[in-house]
Amino acid sequence: MLIKDGIRIDGRKPDELRPIKIEAGVLYRADGSCYLEWGGNKIMAAVYGPREALPRHIQDPTKALVNARYSMASFSVEERKRPGPDRRSTEISKVTSEALESVIFTELFPRTTIDICIEVLDAEAGTRCAGITAAAVALADAGIPMRDIPVACAAGKVDGVVVLDLTSEEDKEGEADLPVAIAPRTEEILLLQMDGHLTYKEFEEALELAIKGCKQVAKLQRQALLNKYKTFEVK
Ligand code: ADP
Repeated sequence: MLIKDGIRIDGRKPDELRPIKIEAGVLYRADGSCYLEWGGNKIMAAVYGPREALPRHIQDPTKALVNARYSMASFSVEERKRPGPDRRSTEISKVTSEALESVIFTELFPRTTIDICIEVLDAEAGTRCAGITAAAVALADAGIPMRDIPVACAAGKVDGVVVLDLTSEEDKEGEADLPVAIAPRTEEILLLQMDGHLTYKEFEEALELAIKGCKQVAKLQRQALLNKYKTFEVK
């Protein structure tokens, strides 16, 4: 049983997020960076560029290439993970690149590349959402012009209840997981994936809940960026 008397195994209500901590500008050599803790996840994101795309034949004369690489450290999961890319990290890198590219003004930087490294140091479910959220802060920290600061959060279904931000047990034993990334200002959807089964009504409920979660996380992203400069307060 994962939900008892309306309370989840880690003591949260169905619509509650895990604790989140975001820090912008933590790496000296990257153009932009972010360290993020989200429940048991610990993630570092670094941005380099825009810089000349090499070798030259990969250059696009009309826009910058956005190249996100998601990687999980061997020590980030209980049983040592084999280092290097695999099917899962290749998929997450691709969907992350596409989600982030869609908000960046790539046409301002022809023939260049914007490289985004997402390193998962500790993994506890929801790492793709946490990775996108951290990468977005790192992009803003690097001063990359964007239409909005993307943010991601998952919802899902556990013991027949639609819940926000699944833990590892809920991800493994639950009925569905729905990671969502949005541009919070317009609520435009940048990423939408689904694992498991939901009825259409449950899907609508989960999507709405995930968007609500995204908007809460967006406030923390903004605060992290403002903290770096300590000039303004978020109202
Ligand atoms: P996400 O992290 O975005 O939820 P998945 O649903 O694929 O992506 O993974 C869920 C969780 O399963 C991860 O966050 C991680 O805690 C765990 N996991 C993923 N890959 C491995 C692996 N190779 N070994 C052990 N645990 C893993």
